[in-house]
Amino acid sequence: MKVEILNTGSELLLGRTLNTHGHWLGRELFKLGLRVERLTTVPDGDAIRDGIAEAVERADVLIVTGGLGPTSDDITREAAAEVAGLELIEDEAALRSLEAFFEIRGRTMAPDNRKQAQVPVGADVLPNPNGTAPGIFIPPRLNGAANCAVFLLPGPPRELQPMYHAEVVPKLTALGGIESAVGIIELKFTGLGESEIHQAVDAKLGAIDGLEVGYCARLAEVDVRLIGPPDALESGRALVLSRFAKQCFSELGEELEEAVVRELKQRALKVATAESCTGGLISARITDVPGSSAVFTHGFVTYANEAKVELLGVSEEALGEYGAVSEPVARQMADGALSASNADIAVAVTGIAGPDGGTDDKPVGTVFIALAAKGRETMVLRQFHPRDRMGFKRAVSQAALECIRR
Ligand code: ATP
Ligand code: MG
Repeated sequence: MKVEILNTGSELLLGRTLNTHGHWLGRELFKLGLRVERLTTVPDGDAIRDGIAEAVERADVLIVTGGLGPTSDDITREAAAEVAGLELIEDEAALRSLEAFFEIRGRTMAPDNRKQAQVPVGADVLPNPNGTAPGIFIPPRLNGAANCAVFLLPGPPRELQPMYHAEVVPKLTALGGIESAVGIIELKFTGLGESEIHQAVDAKLGAIDGLEVGYCARLAEVDVRLIGPPDALESGRALVLSRFAKQCFSELGEELEEAVVRELKQRALKVATAESCTGGLISARITDVPGSSAVFTHGFVTYANEAKVELLGVSEEALGEYGAVSEPVARQMADGALSASNADIAVAVTGIAGPDGGTDDKPVGTVFIALAAKGRETMVLRQFHPRDRMGFKRAVSQAALECIRR
């Protein structure tokens, strides 16, 4: 079944609104076993009609988003009716729920809103409990020779998303043609280059029948995406992990911080952080994960030397002799964070984010990462991430999270 999405709205092309519908619908449709073949974005106006007319010729299902509002630039309803050659008529039930929407909120309905109750003859109204514009479903048979099912969904995400689940999914399922046997696995790795994985496994993965492979290099991370029937997925997964199990932090498509929180929970361990150059990014990433309170105790952001001394007990001597960005200071930061908290593990980072402050022996991008754990000797790594400031912070937080996992 060929599925296309048409996102409408000049604000999307003017860079005023991020097009999250394409992303969200792509993920959701895939869960049903449907692949989006094409995603098109058009501005308000005639381009909407042209976009619909072209897409219905190619696709079996077209999902159009936005432009169902009451204003003059909202013409999706008219455009879809015109392409299907259907007249628009006022739908009584749609008008009543529109009136009720305003009544419940103690507001009077503006005359312009009335056009939102207009529906192409024979099409289905998709109720919108979260806004004024109902969605519309034009079944394939009403689209003439194109024989394409067309869904018109409202622009606001908090209206579109519940409508997709309540109205679109059942209709898509009823249309048939969904191959649910295809699944996806996202394997995620740190401490490896994209080409390293590619070189080691790509030819062998290519030999697995029915398996589609994708690689995505992200900052200090590589994702390998496998799509296919269950047996091909399992063969692909086993092949990649036979080489790189140690570097794989998730098979569930999680972010590194999610994997860290999940694993700390499983091992019933708590972590504290002592951060200099990352300014709290590591603790922010951990605490972005719901449920992190079970595994996270303290985040010390000790940017100034005095803070390292006062809060973590780093010695003036070590700071004077080796400098803040040094093995001994990283070690003392981690040890200090461990004893100042009731955590089982403490990770500390101190480095030079730049653009200034580098020296010959410690250039910009140098970082020391220390890991202290109860009953274990504290370990310190020296790494080099010559990137811009934000990239450096992200890469260091990635390396520190990876240390916590190991
Ligand atoms: P309204 O009744 O609010 O006018 P509508 O169906 O006409 O709804 P639009 O006018 O196209 O929808 O968009 C309304 C709002 O929805 C936009 O301001 C924007 O915030 C959001 N929106 C629209 N399209 C998208 C999209 N593709 N991704 C994310 N948000 C979007
Ligand atoms: Mg609008």
